[in-house]
Amino acid sequence: MEVPKEMKAYCRKCKKHTTHKVKTAKKGKRRTMSFGQKKFLEKTKGYTSKVGAKAKPVKQSKKTVLILECSACGYKHERILPDSKKQATVKKN
Ligand SMILES: [Zn+2]
Repeated sequence: MEVPKEMKAYCRKCKKHTTHKVKTAKKGKRRTMSFGQKKFLEKTKGYTSKVGAKAKPVKQSKKTVLILECSACGYKHERILPDSKKQATVKKN
């Protein structure tokens, strides 16, 4: 599924529909100082491959999070697309 680069959407700040720039959200960096991550790093210390990872059923589809930026005021908000077989991407050109 392809999403257009620009779309009209409601802006909460402007309180009306304006054109928005569309981007897909990317995964953030892991916080190395968080408790769970510290525990994981301590457990896997010295090993070069993953340890303690259980076999989980692989998720077939993932929700895409779009970040919409208002062209009038610059306010950013998210729009979550429903699960679909193909990952949604932003249209080029
Ligand atoms: Zn706005």
